[in-house]
Amino acid sequence: MQAYLPPIEDYRFLMEQVLGFDAAMSDLELDVDLELAAAVLQEAGKFCAEQLHPLNREWDEQGSRLENGVVRTPAGFVEAYKAFVEAGWPALAGDPAHGGQGLPFLLQLWLDEMVSGANLSFGLVPGLTRGAAEALAAHASEELKAAYLPKLVSGEWTGAMVLTEGGAGTDLALLKTKAEPAGEGQFIVTGQKIFISSGDHDLTDNIVHFVLARLPDAPAGVKGISLFLVPKVLPDGTRNAMSAGALEKKMGLHAQPTCVMNYDGATGWMVGEPHRGLAAMFTMMNAERLMVGIQGLGIAGAAYQQAAAYAKDRLQGRSADGARGPVPIIEHADVRRMLLNVRVFVEAGRALSAWTALQYDRANRHPDAAERGKANAFVALLTPVVKAAFTDLGFEGAVQAQQVFGGHGYIREWGMEQYVRDSRITQIYEGTNGVQAMDLVGRKLPLGGGTVVAGFFDLMAADLDAAGDIQIAEKTREALALLRDVTGRLQGADTDAVGAASVDYLRLFALVAFGWMWTRMATAEGDMPVHAHKRQLAEFYAARVLPQVHSLAAQVSAGPAAIMALEAEAF
Ligand SMILES: Cc1cc2nc3c(=O)[nH]c(=O)nc-3n(C[C@H](O)[C@H](O)[C@H](O)COP(=O)(O)OP(=O)(O)OC[C@H]3O[C@@H](n4cnc5c(N)ncnc54)[C@H](O)[C@@H]3O)c2cc1C
Repeated sequence: MQAYLPPIEDYRFLMEQVLGFDAAMSDLELDVDLELAAAVLQEAGKFCAEQLHPLNREWDEQGSRLENGVVRTPAGFVEAYKAFVEAGWPALAGDPAHGGQGLPFLLQLWLDEMVSGANLSFGLVPGLTRGAAEALAAHASEELKAAYLPKLVSGEWTGAMVLTEGGAGTDLALLKTKAEPAGEGQFIVTGQKIFISSGDHDLTDNIVHFVLARLPDAPAGVKGISLFLVPKVLPDGTRNAMSAGALEKKMGLHAQPTCVMNYDGATGWMVGEPHRGLAAMFTMMNAERLMVGIQGLGIAGAAYQQAAAYAKDRLQGRSADGARGPVPIIEHADVRRMLLNVRVFVEAGRALSAWTALQYDRANRHPDAAERGKANAFVALLTPVVKAAFTDLGFEGAVQAQQVFGGHGYIREWGMEQYVRDSRITQIYEGTNGVQAMDLVGRKLPLGGGTVVAGFFDLMAADLDAAGDIQIAEKTREALALLRDVTGRLQGADTDAVGAASVDYLRLFALVAFGWMWTRMATAEGDMPVHAHKRQLAEFYAARVLPQVHSLAAQVSAGPAAIMALEAEAF
């Protein structure tokens, strides 16, 4: 396996030539310029390449273990995490009021891409901690914030997101964990949770759990769920009544300790209002959804690098004219097709998620409230698209990169099968991709009475018009017209119609948005090799990927009848 190559040049290209980074920062009155951003990313990339990537395979083989009630991570994990914290990476975009460095979320997102590409099991630890800090900052009392926030922001302690139970996954209305008032603002939490990422480990002195549970007087359903902060170690230094009952044995992410957690009368404190815990948890979940999308992108990008290097090296078959052979497999059209499919997703996904990250920064930091509101709505619209499309395409990308290796991709030696196993979970956790798609159609398209999605389409249309008659712009304009038409037809659709259409609709939406990004990248001015490459890749995207919008639009328009016809017993 070759070294991980941080995509710093692509980040620089996007900041400088596509996203207008310096202008975006001065709009936000942030004292961060391109050079500073590039230097930060360079350092982050170095850490990922030198300290995380080399351990990825070994940790996968060792896995985390539960020994006499103690969770132990693979050799070197503790040291790597300590070095990550000491270098200040967890606090990169954190609020300076709580010890964060206040850098733009865009840099955080790209750090996440590199960490995920280098070592996904590791990446979940700081990723979940950051989401926990956001939920705490937005909803907790000042006392809880003072006690926990600085240590979560710095990474000295980690966070865990605790929703899922054996009988309650997607449908959190079914959850049974109880929380009873114990006076002085404390609660006694009792129940069992499953699938809890970083639920227990040996990396830090304390782990702060954010647990969904029901109060004794809670109404049934999701309106009766409250959120509780339950630390592994209590403020007086004693162990809380909670423990990892088992580690989940799973397909991938072997180094990541995914725990069954038992709360046996554990002490907790409420975060936010009684019965309004799900709304508070959504602060954490929305942050995590963007991160999980980036995990898909990060793995596909890393798998692409390995596959491209292998394809230039591996000799098999003869040249197309039969004159030379054996030739590097990169010469074969089918191998190029697979590599290009992954590459055009990774680079457009990187650009689209960066655009979304800048909206996230505008939503949180723009001086004008109207601008903040507008940007916030775009982030809400794009969050399910980033989560689901990036992880579906990320997994598909890992599989295509594996295919480039032939049989050598299936055996362990080259590391490709680990990318496939590790990336698969990203389509499932943080809300399955089917559920994300229904969120897009059922909740996000109606935002602002349809004005948010219309505004986003208008924004894309303006750039596509400005790009003139190049092929990528023309094809994306056609695809956008199709998307607008299909979007109009989905308005007011009933539950089955939404359920039947959503996954195809989300893919269609993502492909159009990628076409928009390819148009923006292809029209960046300059005559360096990168400009020529971006134009060639945009041509490939227009000719070979974008035509999929026609079949997707036909599938969306077909309605639910053929899906719902077969009676359940006949399956
Ligand atoms: C490795 C790993 C790590 C995880 N980490 C965490 C964590 O840190 N914290 C945490 O709380 N959870 C975590 N999870 C749980 C994860 O978020 C859930 O597994 C996921 O949300 C799905 O829930 P479920 O497994 O119960 O599936 P189910 O909800 O039973 O879904 C089964 C299938 O039915 C579909 N479905 C369900 N309801 C509907 C509906 N209304 N309409 C249409 N389709 C529907 C789903 O899309 C899915 O395809 C983790 C899981 C794994 C495997």
